[in-house]
Amino acid sequence: MEFASHSSPLRKLSIMSEKKNNFEQRIFDATHQPLHCLDLGTIQINIGLLCNQTCEHCHVEASPKRMEQMSWQTMQAILAVTSKLPPVLIDITGGAPEMHPHLEKFLRTLVQQHHRVQLRTNLTILLDPTYKHFPNLYRELNIELVASFPCYFEEEVRLQRGKGVFEKSIEALQLLNKIGYGTTPKLPLTLVFNPLEPVLPPEQKTLENDYRSYLTEHFNIQFTRLITLTNMPLGRFLNMLQGKKPEYMKLLKDSFNPETIPSLMCRHQINIGWDGTLYDCDFNLAAGLPVTTKIQKNIKQFDHSVLSKRKIATADHCFGCTAGHGSSCGGALI
Ligand code: SF4
Ligand code: SF4
Repeated sequence: MEFASHSSPLRKLSIMSEKKNNFEQRIFDATHQPLHCLDLGTIQINIGLLCNQTCEHCHVEASPKRMEQMSWQTMQAILAVTSKLPPVLIDITGGAPEMHPHLEKFLRTLVQQHHRVQLRTNLTILLDPTYKHFPNLYRELNIELVASFPCYFEEEVRLQRGKGVFEKSIEALQLLNKIGYGTTPKLPLTLVFNPLEPVLPPEQKTLENDYRSYLTEHFNIQFTRLITLTNMPLGRFLNMLQGKKPEYMKLLKDSFNPETIPSLMCRHQINIGWDGTLYDCDFNLAAGLPVTTKIQKNIKQFDHSVLSKRKIATADHCFGCTAGHGSSCGGALI
């Protein structure tokens, strides 16, 4: 396990005496260091909270009623920053990114800047007549797709994501396969699983094999890989937990696995919210917890040398990332 050292002996003494939250204490007990970023290999951008769905587990509480969207000025401020970076992974999320009026312009510029661009789609939006041109645009620009598909059974998807979502998701996956997503190596199609119940996800590779067998046999669907996500105790999932919250938090805390620490996604990325605020991750965005740096809290003050070494802001929800095999927007960590 590798941990970056940021501390002189005096600094170490002051770090030891700083008041820590429960998560910071667990990290400190395991590593003798606060949690710091190690590199900015990924820039995750949440371009807005408008979505055509209202899923039960949504940590950002997106819905058709949410009007928060990134302005073109903020997108330009991001593009000014990314134009100076070496190629990184740009991870576009929302809401439903397709519903943003400037998505196409934004994607084209990011690709022209030679970044690898990945986008999180909820699949159903790709069948809406207003947005049905996006699959071909994604293919033209070699955008990598990450698609929410939390179960291969209709009942589970309906309970988590709403009536009709399963059928539309199947149709959208077949459409994506037809144009090369999941069937050709240069157009990766990643599926995302998260549990319906307040439990940890099953082992990722085993579940991927189950998905592959079922989807091939029943729907002739192919995909590149499956990733598992732990539901974070935030947003609508937290509301849904109600009286089960203490039990779920206990499960997450009892399952703390120090081997996940080097790969925690906040150590290798930064997240930009729809209004340009900088966060360590999309979960901290949902929790309203911006980066800890004193002045650089907005994309307009982006300084790579400071942000790539920043101390990470944490809270109790972080136990969702360190439980069991670990969890991140890229799936299990170990
Ligand atoms: S989970 Fe995804 S598809 Fe569902 S409401 Fe949230 S952003 Fe929309
Ligand atoms: S919730 Fe965010 S800040 Fe907390 S451990 Fe996970 S990735 Fe890091």
